[in-house]
Amino acid sequence: LSERLSGVFDRLTKQGALSEDDVKTALREVRVALLEADVSLPVAREFVKAVQDKATGQAVTKSITPGQQVVKIVHDELVHVLQGEGDPGKLKIDNAPAPILMVGLQGSGKTTTTAKLAKRLKDREGKRVLMASLDVNRPAAMEQLQILGVQIGVDTLPIVKGETPVQIARRAKTQASLGGYDVYMLDTAGRLHIDQELIQQAADVRDVVNPRETLLVVDGLTGQVAVEVAEEFDDKIGVSGVVLTRMDGDGRGGAALSMRAVTGKPIRFVGLGEKMDAIETFEPERIAGRILGMGDIVALVEKAQATIEAEQAERMMKRFAKGQFNMNDMREQLDQMLRMGGMEGVMGMLPGMGKMAKQVQEAGFDDSAIRHQIAMIQSMTKRERANPQILQASRKKRIAAGSGMEVSDLNKLLKMHRQMADMMKKMGKMGKGGMLKQAMK
Ligand code: GDP
Ligand code: MG
Repeated sequence: LSERLSGVFDRLTKQGALSEDDVKTALREVRVALLEADVSLPVAREFVKAVQDKATGQAVTKSITPGQQVVKIVHDELVHVLQGEGDPGKLKIDNAPAPILMVGLQGSGKTTTTAKLAKRLKDREGKRVLMASLDVNRPAAMEQLQILGVQIGVDTLPIVKGETPVQIARRAKTQASLGGYDVYMLDTAGRLHIDQELIQQAADVRDVVNPRETLLVVDGLTGQVAVEVAEEFDDKIGVSGVVLTRMDGDGRGGAALSMRAVTGKPIRFVGLGEKMDAIETFEPERIAGRILGMGDIVALVEKAQATIEAEQAERMMKRFAKGQFNMNDMREQLDQMLRMGGMEGVMGMLPGMGKMAKQVQEAGFDDSAIRHQIAMIQSMTKRERANPQILQASRKKRIAAGSGMEVSDLNKLLKMHRQMADMMKKMGKMGKGGMLKQAMK
């Protein structure tokens, strides 16, 4: 996919400006990428439309490397959609004992995630956690949680056969209070498909304990199904966040985007394996890169930025070739230097200027010197800036005084301006001949 995208974007780049059609072509590929990553069709459609609106407006104003621009916009928008409010890793566990309800389909990773989160709360926040399995459906489910509890050093509610989930939940609540626990986690049963009886069971438990967090555990590999599951659970039980499991696998994580877009629920954690430490706080940037199938997205964006700067330099050159270099241009240059990391940075981008960059550096052309020069230019009138030759001694004195500098400093600036104008003229001509363009590729 990465290749296909860059192919399309390369073609765009060569055309220079980004038309609405160009954006559409590029975004068609993005849409395919999203679908391949298991993002549901309506979500992909809506997402692409949002990006299109942004891209067309923005790319026209910048019109520099449109393809890369689109990539960045797509990436940023993905992060924006994926990002929930607040800190995803912060569980609401004030007012001890705080109940946390774990829900989801069978095999999604509820029991594993319950233990992982319990361990995390214990290790990172020093919390006393009690875990209880409400899974009365599967024979070994309760023992599974118990074994994990022993493994991670977290207590589990003693198993009593024959209780209903609601009865177990009540007992867990009482035990958590009496035992002085900070948190009690309820691991519910799941079915392979959404099942009204099961949902009702979870809703009943919810009503008994009134959970501070209800975390929906979803298999990150399941794509479309995950969205339906999330909608249903949120609708019937109310969900405070989502945990995406099996993100250590090949799944592209499109489910994450779909779920965010459809339910608006924040993704809180990501499961990255079967081990008890294999859980991380959700990071939208990582999933965004994965959905786009572009691990090198950052590099691409950086490249885009570099190209933008080179392009600006080239545009300047064109102006200078026509002999246009007054104090306003100089001011712009100085501003740009500050932005681009000083004179050195600018010179480094122009061919054959390496030596000069060194001289400039030796001359003490640092940021504060540049700022002083900008201050002097600001003290000039509009006319003087357009044509600095008209400056008389009396005006020079006032300008220097107005910007807190000496006349000798101003003279230096004026001299530098003349030299630069001269140099720019020569270089601009070089640029016109194509050398500059070649070198900037
Ligand atoms: P439950 O039925 O929802 O309670 O699911 P389980 O917690 O029993 O997990 C089912 C299987 O998935 C187990 O073999 C787990 O080890 C495995 N599993 C859970 N989370 C992850 C994960 O993030 N990555 C991987 N690779 N396996 C996981
Ligand atoms: Mg289980």
